[in-house]
Amino acid sequence: ICGSDLHSYLEGAFVAPGQVMGHEFSGKIVEMGKEVQGVKIGDRVTVMPLTICGRCPRCLEGSSHLCEIGLAESVAYGLPGAFAEFVRVPNVILGSNLFKIPDNVDDAAAALVEPLAVALHAAKMSAPGPSDTCVVLGLGSIGLNTVQMLKALGAGRVIGIDISPVRLKLAAQLGADITINGREVDALEAVTEITGPGAYGVGARADIVIEASGVGALLNQAVSMTRAGGKLRIAALYEGDVMVPANQIVQKEMSVSGTFAYRGEFAQVLSLLASGRIQAAPVITHTFALDDIEQAFRTQLDKDVSIKVQVAP
Ligand SMILES: [Zn+2]
Ligand SMILES: [Zn+2]
Repeated sequence: ICGSDLHSYLEGAFVAPGQVMGHEFSGKIVEMGKEVQGVKIGDRVTVMPLTICGRCPRCLEGSSHLCEIGLAESVAYGLPGAFAEFVRVPNVILGSNLFKIPDNVDDAAAALVEPLAVALHAAKMSAPGPSDTCVVLGLGSIGLNTVQMLKALGAGRVIGIDISPVRLKLAAQLGADITINGREVDALEAVTEITGPGAYGVGARADIVIEASGVGALLNQAVSMTRAGGKLRIAALYEGDVMVPANQIVQKEMSVSGTFAYRGEFAQVLSLLASGRIQAAPVITHTFALDDIEQAFRTQLDKDVSIKVQVAP
C-alpha cells in the first residue's frame, strides 16, 4: 500500500470511484498476449505501472514519466490495479514496463521495486556527492528508501528526521549517519548545529534537502535548512496549498524541484536489491490477505505501528 493510496482511500484523490487500486506489485505470469517477447508463463516479474504514449514531447526527450497523453490509462490509474488475484498489464515490453525478478530477490521485495524506484529517482535528482550533507525529512517508506539510495549513490553524510523512534532507528539501520527526533528537539536548530548556520546566520547549510514528509510546515523548514546554492527536492504530496519562504529561495539561489515517480530506474533497483546494496525487508512491517484489505489500509494509516503494509492475494 502506497502513501498515495491512503490519499485515495481517505479523500478519493487521484482515482475515480470503483478504481481497483494497487500499483506496487510483483507476480507470476499466468497468461500472455501473442506478441509479448522475452518472457514465458511462470516467470516472476514486477511491473512499471505507467502507460506511456511514446510520441509526445516528454516521451521523446526520455521523460516518459511525465507523458502528456498516456498516464491516464495506467495500471491502477484508469486500468484495474493489483489489489486483486490477477492483473492485466497492457503493451508489455520487457525492460520497459516489465522486469524479470532475479532469483535471490523474493516476491515481497520485488513488490517494492516501484517505491524504491521513486526513492532512487529522488536521490538521483539531487545528485549527491561524497562531501555533501543531505537531510531527509520524513522517514516513511519513501523517506527511508531515499536514505538508502542517497548512501548507495555515495552521499557523504545523511541526516534523517522524523518523530517516530521506530522509524529513526530503522533509518540508522539503513545507513543514516545522524537521526533527529523532531518531537524532542527543533529540527531546524538541530540541523543548524550539525551543519553550522547558513549565510548571514539565517537557517542551516545542508547541501541537499529532500522533503518526504508531506507536512507543509516541514517544507517550510526544508527551505531554511538548505544552503545558498543548495538543492531542495520535494518527493511528497501535500493535503492543500503550502506557504514557503519564497525570498529565501531567491536570495539563496536554491534549486528547488519536485521529483515524481521514476525515469527508468526499475532495472537499477533490481540490481541494487540483488547485490544486497539496498534492502527491502526492513521496511515491510505487515502482510495481509486480500480479503483483509480494509484492515491492511487501517494498519497502513497508523504511522506508529506500520511502515510498509503489503497485501498477498
Ligand atoms: Zn506509489
Ligand atoms: Zn507521451
